[in-house]
Amino acid sequence: MREKHLLEIVRLADCVKNIGRRASGGKMPQINVSASSFIPKPWTPFQWEPQITMEQGLGKQAVLRRELSRIKLGFKWHDADMSVVEGVFARGDRRLSKAILSAFRKGCRFDGWSEKFDFNKWMESFNEAGVDPAFYTGRRRPFDEVFPWDHLNPGVAKEFLIKEFERAIELARTPDCKVDRCSNCGLCDHKVIKPRSAKEGPVFDQAEKAASGEESCRVRFRFSKTGIARFLGHLELVSVFIRAIRRAGLPLKYSQGFHPMPKLSFGAPLPVGMESLEEYLDIEFMGTIPPEEALEKLNAQVPEGIRFLSASPLPLKLSFPSAIMTEYIAQIKDGPLGIDIEPENIEGLLRDFSAKDSIPVRITREDKVTDVDLKPSLAALSYAGDSNLSLVLRKVEGTPPVRPADVLACLFGLSREDASLIPVLKIRTVQ
Ligand code: SF4
Repeated sequence: MREKHLLEIVRLADCVKNIGRRASGGKMPQINVSASSFIPKPWTPFQWEPQITMEQGLGKQAVLRRELSRIKLGFKWHDADMSVVEGVFARGDRRLSKAILSAFRKGCRFDGWSEKFDFNKWMESFNEAGVDPAFYTGRRRPFDEVFPWDHLNPGVAKEFLIKEFERAIELARTPDCKVDRCSNCGLCDHKVIKPRSAKEGPVFDQAEKAASGEESCRVRFRFSKTGIARFLGHLELVSVFIRAIRRAGLPLKYSQGFHPMPKLSFGAPLPVGMESLEEYLDIEFMGTIPPEEALEKLNAQVPEGIRFLSASPLPLKLSFPSAIMTEYIAQIKDGPLGIDIEPENIEGLLRDFSAKDSIPVRITREDKVTDVDLKPSLAALSYAGDSNLSLVLRKVEGTPPVRPADVLACLFGLSREDASLIPVLKIRTVQ
């Protein structure tokens, strides 16, 4: 994409800004332009094409940032170095497995989060594995190159993708086969598999009804999250529940306004990897839904590891209570660390730890570092048998919430990261 194309993006955003300003009676609308490097993917017409280099990506971002700030529009971008690593894996092969292992050993985790992503560690890992990133991202590949994904069949023929690539270069449009002629991509048999338009989804109907102020009811659910479901992050869990509610055919209530949002409220999010026997979720439904009926329907739709345990009606305006005390079990012998201490020694260790007048610790939450004393947060700590520790943490006003990994790190002299590898089960919450 040349600079003149980038300037066209800026011109388009400027048009949108002017339309927004006119629509809001002269008020300046808030508009953000987001841009990221294009990463060619397997089974697409661009799977033979090189990706732009990191330097080119940074150069294009600089032009957009400069030009958009000139017309007072926000700019969001995807890190160009992250795009390089994503590009390598998008069309990578088995040789990358050594690089993944090496990066893992260097501490690379959650690399999709920019605050965790370490480009240099990935480059070192590629180097140690004898992998040249440019081999995967920087080459224009011949049409007859054999790809690592060629043995899988996505349905669409390679010949069609080559034709589509050639049409893209000529700026030719391919008709939408739902409303126009078939382009013979190879996907349909035109009998069982053929294009169909989805019926109108219930979501929009519900949003409209919500806006009309129809009567609603609110239900508090208690649920457990164990096994494989412990790896679902909070936002993923929200999606899981919204989908389950839709599949169960329950009439979810939406907020009013420009962006109707489903009316769900949760307690404090559970750290990824932690299991829990007691979590709470409040759902507002349109009309009147018996809680037991909702419970049964939802349990039929949630994935493995999620189980609704009880449901009770709630007044509409009651706010979500915060936890004042939470009980956990830490399974110190399990997990990758496998801390193996004799029961007598554990009990001595816990006695000494609990007898301390203060337990200073440094807690980092969202890049904010705070020095706190763990002692007031530690309501109870005892040996529960079978290499399990029972831990009760209380909420202390004015202190960031202390988590089990903070206590385990201090107790066993571990780094916070290592301590978070100890499996922890949340037992219950006192509200
Ligand atoms: S009708 Fe089927 S085969 Fe034809 S272009 Fe559409 S998806 Fe492909």
